Formats: sequence, structure tokens, C-alpha cells
Amino acid sequence: MLSTMGIDIARSSFEYLGEDHVGTSLETPLREDAFEMDDDLKVELIEKHFREIMHIMGLDLTDDSLKGTPHRVAKMYVKEVFSGLNPKNKPAAKLFENKYKYNQMLVEKDITFHSHCEHHFVPIYGRAHVAYISSGDVIGLSKINRIVQYYSKRPQVQERLTMQIGNELKEALGTEDVAVIMDAYHMCVSSRGVNDTNSSTVTSFFSGKFESEEQTRNEFLKYISLKK
Ligand SMILES: [Zn+2]
Repeated sequence: MLSTMGIDIARSSFEYLGEDHVGTSLETPLREDAFEMDDDLKVELIEKHFREIMHIMGLDLTDDSLKGTPHRVAKMYVKEVFSGLNPKNKPAAKLFENKYKYNQMLVEKDITFHSHCEHHFVPIYGRAHVAYISSGDVIGLSKINRIVQYYSKRPQVQERLTMQIGNELKEALGTEDVAVIMDAYHMCVSSRGVNDTNSSTVTSFFSGKFESEEQTRNEFLKYISLKK
């Protein structure tokens, strides 16, 4: 159960429950041989299959505007929007000594992210808010951003994405005291299905002091609600 693993899921989306958009595991389900094929061959094969999909839909692939689409989609899948599947693209998180002895909470809020729902392959996008309490080492702020982007660039469910980011930060920072909140729009809810353009889905990951101390958690929540 997700609820026993330090994650609270506030669903403001009815459809989200209705379609049972809950993932099956914390790890992205990948096959053992996932990266035996190189990126260029993947692009070539996806291009071929996507051309077939467009052809089946009755589109005229000799049209100048459509001709390049299969290649563009294939390249976008492998090199951009799903590039976070491949561990070789994982950002190396370099730690720095915390010279100021800053042992308070550090919050990075409003990190924009774009992901894709693994059930429909349409965008999930929104903002992530991340916090940690340094155990003596700190990480460059842009690295937090890159970790969020890396896990976003996979077919995802929002709960798993939130936990993958939280667990990676724990590992990279060598601390249990990590919190992540993600507030996202799901295009599978807004552009199809119930066509609800207003609802967003909020997921959270609280570990260490953020889980055990209400005061710490509330401090984080207060910071992310501050206006700039
Ligand atoms: Zn979906």
C-alpha cells in the first residue's frame, strides 16, 4: 500500500480514481534488455511503427507536412520526452561540503516539470516543490531540478514519479530528511475522458523529520504557499 510508505495522495480529480490510474510498482517497469539496443536503432524502429500507425489512421504520408512526423515523434520519444528511461542520462549529483553549517530546511519550489501518463501517453505537467535538511553536505540547486526532470522524462504515474524523486534525493544527499510535493495537470483528464480542465492532482513524499515531525512538515508547507 502506498499509504504505508510515507505518501499521502490527495486526489482532486474524480477521473483519476475512475480510471484507476495507480501504478503497480515503485520502479519503472523495464525489461532486462531495455538498453541493449542503441538510441539510433530505437529511433529508426519507432519511426517505422509510427508511420504505420499514421497510415492505418488513413493519413497521407506523402503530404509535405506529415512526411517528417514519424521521424520527429521517434526522435522526441527516445532523445527527449522519454530520455529519463535510460540510466546513462541520470544526472550525477555532486555533493559539496556545507561550509556555512546551514542546518535549516532548504526549499526549492515551483520547479516546472513535464511528464507523460503511462496509461495514455499524453502529458502530465505541473510544479514540484522539494525540501531537505542538510546532513552536512549540500547539492547544487540545479541538480535538484535535473533530478526532477530526469524522472519526469519517463512514462509515469504521478505517485511513482514523486517517490522516485524523493528516494533519489535521499540517496544523493545522504539524508532521510526529504520532502517532495507535486501538483500536476493530467491531459488524459483535461483533453479527453471527463474533459475536466480545472482539477489538478497533488502527491507528496515525506521522509525522516518531514514524516515524523508535524512542525517540520508544516514549515515546508508554509514556505511553498509563500507568494514571491
Ligand atoms: Zn492517463
